[in-house]
Amino acid sequence: MKYLDEFRDPAAARALVRQIRDRATTRWTLMEVCGGQTHSIIRNGIDQLLDDVVEFIHGPGCPVCVTPLEMIDRALQIAGREEVIFCSFGDMLRVPGSHEDLFSVRARGGDVRVVYSPLDAVRIAADNPDKEVVFFGVGFETTAPANAMSVLHAQRLGLLNFSMLVSHVLVPPAMTAILSSPTNRVQAFLAAGHVCTVMGMSEYGPLVERYRVPIVVTGFEPLDLLEGVRQAVDLLESGTPALRNAYQRAVSPAGNGVAQEILADVFEVTDRQWRGIGMIPQSGWKLSRRYAQFDAEVRFGVGEVTVEESADCHAGEVLQGLLKPNECPAFGTLCTPRTPLGATMVSSEGACAAYYHFRRLSLDTTGAAHV
Ligand code: SF4
Repeated sequence: MKYLDEFRDPAAARALVRQIRDRATTRWTLMEVCGGQTHSIIRNGIDQLLDDVVEFIHGPGCPVCVTPLEMIDRALQIAGREEVIFCSFGDMLRVPGSHEDLFSVRARGGDVRVVYSPLDAVRIAADNPDKEVVFFGVGFETTAPANAMSVLHAQRLGLLNFSMLVSHVLVPPAMTAILSSPTNRVQAFLAAGHVCTVMGMSEYGPLVERYRVPIVVTGFEPLDLLEGVRQAVDLLESGTPALRNAYQRAVSPAGNGVAQEILADVFEVTDRQWRGIGMIPQSGWKLSRRYAQFDAEVRFGVGEVTVEESADCHAGEVLQGLLKPNECPAFGTLCTPRTPLGATMVSSEGACAAYYHFRRLSLDTTGAAHV
């Protein structure tokens, strides 16, 4: 298969592993930012292949995982209303709010629908003029352009019954928060390639300068990740804090200018809560004033809903690289994909789910989970 098989070639992977081993004189701590990268690393055993020279810690790059609990509760309140058709990508339906999830609302008769594009929600709004249609717009810079386009499309169609519950988050402020933390352990970042495809690389240069930390823009296939690691280890070994692009087939330094213009029009930067982490200033997008009429929080009066996180779930520590998923006391016992306590066990990009699905769990006779 062109464009995939060549990035999964075992011989090329072995060669890259050898190069990383030959270059490394110590065990370096790298954070891959994106949950898709986490799953690829764990699924392909890259962390085990390089265990003696690289420790991977898994960053807050899973959009489902960092969507704050209060935003899930706002979604639940809106979805439970009789006049509402609530549309979402499928992985949000099982994310637990403080008392239930969107599947529970659907089981009680709520009209909760899985869509594969925000434009599907716009079409549903056009087809159901007597209903309020709400799309749950979550994610990083990657999903935001399509969500912004759906708002523009609804405006062009003159749809008054379409709105969006927006919970967008931004990667560079989260990296800044991690690097600023007194508990930070990250020595180099593998930046999320698809975010840079949209936004370019300009936001990362100031981070390299300020924190003296190498950042390598990295893709998602095994060879992409190994090449990102190779470049990061090379920069660390030579003491060179620099920004590199190891995903040139998808990322240009300037990114996608058209998408950036649309994002700047439809959204404006705001403070945002991150699930398990807390408030990170200027770390999210909300609808700009020009598009306030499409803001579901305002339309349904749920903007003031706030809730406390469960003390049993340690996802915040997992998302900051302070705890490995299998070190959480609930991992694989109280918390499984069928009985999730936190979003990181639900999401297809969540670190806890990755450890659970890809053989990092065994149960001994006492029922305790361990690697
Ligand atoms: S294993 Fe479950 S309870 Fe523990 S951090 Fe992950 S999601 Fe939270």
